[in-house]
Amino acid sequence: MSGKALYFMHEEALRYRFNADHPFDQQRLAMTHDLLEYAEAIDEGAVIRLQTQASDTERWLPLIHRADYIDAVKHLSDPNPSTEWVARAAQYGLHTEDTPYFTGMHTAACAIVAGSIAACEAVMSGKSQHALHLGGGLHHAFGDKGAGFCVYNDAAVAIAWLQQTYQARVLYVDTDVHHGDGVQWCFYTNPDVFTYSIHETGKFLFPGTGFVHERGGGEGFGACVNVPLEPYTEDESWLECFTETVQSAAAAFKPDIIISQHGCDAHALDPLSHMHCSTRIYSEMPRIIHRLAHQYCDGKWVAVGGGGYDIWRVVPRAWSMLWLEMSEHPLAHSLQNHPQQPLPQQWLAKWSMQSPVPLPHTWHDDATEWAPMPRRSIIEDRNARAKELALEYIR
Ligand SMILES: [Zn+2]
Repeated sequence: MSGKALYFMHEEALRYRFNADHPFDQQRLAMTHDLLEYAEAIDEGAVIRLQTQASDTERWLPLIHRADYIDAVKHLSDPNPSTEWVARAAQYGLHTEDTPYFTGMHTAACAIVAGSIAACEAVMSGKSQHALHLGGGLHHAFGDKGAGFCVYNDAAVAIAWLQQTYQARVLYVDTDVHHGDGVQWCFYTNPDVFTYSIHETGKFLFPGTGFVHERGGGEGFGACVNVPLEPYTEDESWLECFTETVQSAAAAFKPDIIISQHGCDAHALDPLSHMHCSTRIYSEMPRIIHRLAHQYCDGKWVAVGGGGYDIWRVVPRAWSMLWLEMSEHPLAHSLQNHPQQPLPQQWLAKWSMQSPVPLPHTWHDDATEWAPMPRRSIIEDRNARAKELALEYIR
């Protein structure tokens, strides 16, 4: 075991960009890495810069994706795709405002899949106990269709790869504010992959699924849990629902490895959801998952990114704190006691030049200053009911 955690990056993943106005913006990866560097919270020795080609990764795509879909993605990656392929783009979910085809998307999406598989490989082979790949977490893609900003489902391909290569039992924990639908449906009938997702209820948010009665099918019945929460949920309620259900899921399933998805779009500032959480949940959830990985999986834990659309005020802090936790950096611990510590001045100076909004100056929000949500007790009661039902289903 050479170290506790590795940090995977792939230059090509920065080119995963639908268009200049699209909310999915990988600049957040650069901002996060930058924040960690200025905070002196990442060793160059922990960083793995992948340089794989799309052709190195292509052979794994069919574990999840249909051959004709891969073909469509390739053709539509051309700067001038033929009218025949353009006409077929809609059939593959690649002609929508959310997920429009773009030049080079096959190569960029393959780089993202490569990062997630490499992270899994590092952990399974014992190179490191934990691995982080923030470029990954594209959980909405289906086997035959792109959706919700996702072209290839890197998490699903990596899980299928783990199963094929190591026959591993995988617990997938999805903390994005959107339901982890693509991963769930890929493994819905598979008893060896447990999919867990906590999110804003599909009654009000894309993709409109993830209800508590979705529990897996056939042999996979019971290996799927959903915890849908009400709009305007705050930290306390989110964490209560998360902690109890994810612990029960891990205890019931006893995984060999945990793959967690860390979309940070349940934050109050995120423009694409209606939740009212602070940065606190983004240091506490990784801590809980980390503990479970040691309790059940000998430490085997791979974390990927996901959604997160306030790239200035939310994502860099949330994702940096995930790394602090994984790498057991002393700052993770000290932030628990003193959450309002300042962000590095140089980072603020550099990025506030570009940011359209004033950047926060501390690692954590001070949510005690926020006005309490109206209807708080109704929201908490409804969430508690979803939690109880999920717990009843897990047991
Ligand atoms: Zn999301």
